Amino acid sequence: MTLVATEAVVLHAFDYLESSRIMRLITRDAGIQSVLARGARSSRKRFGTSLDVFAQGTAEYSTRPGRDLNTLTAFDVTRARPELAADISRFTGACVLAELALRFSSDEPHPRLFDAFVAGLDAIGAAEADDTVSRTLGAAWHIVGELGFAPALDVCANCHTPLADDARTPFSHVAGGALCDRCARLVPGAHPIPPEARAALAEWLAGSPVEISSAAEGRAHQRLLREFLDQHLSEGKKLVAYSMWEREQLLVTNH
Ligand SMILES: [Zn+2]
Repeated sequence: MTLVATEAVVLHAFDYLESSRIMRLITRDAGIQSVLARGARSSRKRFGTSLDVFAQGTAEYSTRPGRDLNTLTAFDVTRARPELAADISRFTGACVLAELALRFSSDEPHPRLFDAFVAGLDAIGAAEADDTVSRTLGAAWHIVGELGFAPALDVCANCHTPLADDARTPFSHVAGGALCDRCARLVPGAHPIPPEARAALAEWLAGSPVEISSAAEGRAHQRLLREFLDQHLSEGKKLVAYSMWEREQLLVTNH
């Protein structure tokens, strides 16, 4: 048995038997981990009062070789993040980040991914209603980049020719990014994207904020990211939280 103490955020939690909870955590030092919190429902004292989704703190758990479910021994919550649950746009955005982390990362240590995830939750939690989509897009692309799937943006994804900053360039999910005009003729299904969209992707991948200017632009970016995830990460399995996020934005912006 080994005891582990690491910074962690709750991604998913459900009741188990009469008094316990099982949680999926993203941790700074051990990637994604599942933990059993024995007695979490019968004794609030033991794990604090806010072991809900998106709570962050120091998790302590014991592991055994060959076992996937660890035993949580303590969780000191430092950030409960009630601001995410207080607003539906923030909440659906945060759920998109959780889905990306749960579906596409592993139990390998990845501190930079953890930091990108936490920075994303903080950005979404502080967002006004109009900004939640761009903050979510930014955090999601930052996570995609940390997972190792950043698209080519300033050079052609196929032949690596530099692309002019102000050019409207074809973008191909299959090829893995922007293309020069010559290569675009060889790759079916490439769609042009404006230079501002390409610049926004570059900023988001670097973890920098970019606000988008209209709901239509937000929807175009949501579609671009969904198609990119479908091509490179989700292997044909639907992203449930992502679909909810897109539907929710459609409802909001059609009013
Ligand atoms: Zn090319």
